[in-house]
Amino acid sequence: MSQQHTTQDWRAMDAAHHLHPFSDTKGLNAQGARVITHADGIYLWDSEGNKITDGMAGLWCVNIGYGRKDLPEVAKRQMEELAYYNTFFKTTHPKVAELSALLASVAPDGFEHVFYTNSGSESVDTMIRMVRHYWSSVGKPEKKVLIGRWNGYHGSTIGGASLGGMSYMHEQGDLPIPGIAHVEQPWYYKHGKDLTPEEFGIQAAQWIEAKILEVGADKVAAFVGEPVQGAGGVIIPPSTYWPEVERICRKYDVLLVADEVICGFGRTGEWFGQTHFGFKPDMFTTAKGLSSGYLPIGAVFVGERVARGLIEEGGDFNHGFTYSGHPVCAAVAHANVAALRDEGIVERVKNATGPYMQQRWREVFGQFAHVDDVRGVGLIQAFTLVKNKATRELFDNWGEAGTQCRDIFFKHNLIMRACGDHIVCAPPLVITKAEIDAMLETAVACLREFE
Ligand code: PLP
Repeated sequence: MSQQHTTQDWRAMDAAHHLHPFSDTKGLNAQGARVITHADGIYLWDSEGNKITDGMAGLWCVNIGYGRKDLPEVAKRQMEELAYYNTFFKTTHPKVAELSALLASVAPDGFEHVFYTNSGSESVDTMIRMVRHYWSSVGKPEKKVLIGRWNGYHGSTIGGASLGGMSYMHEQGDLPIPGIAHVEQPWYYKHGKDLTPEEFGIQAAQWIEAKILEVGADKVAAFVGEPVQGAGGVIIPPSTYWPEVERICRKYDVLLVADEVICGFGRTGEWFGQTHFGFKPDMFTTAKGLSSGYLPIGAVFVGERVARGLIEEGGDFNHGFTYSGHPVCAAVAHANVAALRDEGIVERVKNATGPYMQQRWREVFGQFAHVDDVRGVGLIQAFTLVKNKATRELFDNWGEAGTQCRDIFFKHNLIMRACGDHIVCAPPLVITKAEIDAMLETAVACLREFE
């Protein structure tokens, strides 16, 4: 920690020179940003000495928890040995080769190839270009349209924000780009009132079929969805949804793409969300948990069909980043994925902490008058603040209650996130049962203050 500066100095420098992502700079500067200085396990500390429980694993990414000693060691060694070299022009390096083999070994069967990026957004943009290039390569260049979902989140780049269904993002920057369509999200609580969850899952999947028919199957390149919609509010589809989506994509020869940027690397208790929901995409995008946020890296996993098309027919794929497969990021990602595997962290989420969190989450939040749709899978969970539980009526000014509630949590040194009026939680996967209990005790006290 720097010795020369105080919290006030950092706030002043930040306010004068730093434009924060997804922030109202004027409002933030009036208040002053909280200065986070260090972290360990599931905890952060701010510059005023407050210990904060991070119920969001940063931005759903620090799967392995903060403060590991082995990952910085790996980074240091790799920086000394080969700080940088690219993989563009007939070269590779040991760590990127080793990481690729490791990723193929933890991926579901049939995913033998990865393409590296620096973030989830770049993974999504890469996937969009790769999907379109694939269809051109196999002689169907008219198949260009990608279907995403309203309220889906696929990042902030022009491609990712277009494919995502956040209309407030579309409003800035003249999005979406051409060749993108959206369907409604599979949110049972809001859209499935007169149906069983299973019936609703089929209906929501059939919205995709209707969109394919509207656009024309000969023009649709892919359907893209997060196994669990994260930033859209942890929308967990009924069990019938993904198998039906897969059936529809196969029927119309539309590629199925999973955006596993949040779900990947153990969040749902499986290595990838697709395994939890029982479907097999043609490609999937990742980032976040790949390095647990220790360094920026993302990867697009390419399944057999697309890989064959690209390799046999594709020729040059004119796409890539200076830092694709960066040696230091690759080395750290390798150590992170190996640790998630060797320390049994994903299995613990599946068999111990995930089920425990789900049970406790439902027990403690079910009792509140304005809390409903209490839900979760693995270590990703949410509830929705509602005006009337009996009628499932939402608050009039969507997002206001969520923000108020989130701010109370933050004041009490607990980070959970508000996505509209959904309060969401996705802690580091190393959280213990005792830490879950302590976190929920604080959350309950905060909700009493809110109600
Ligand atoms: N895709 C999903 C499902 C995400 O949740 C995110 C980020 O939250 C992204 C893509 C974009 O990732 P990044 O912020 O690393 O660009």
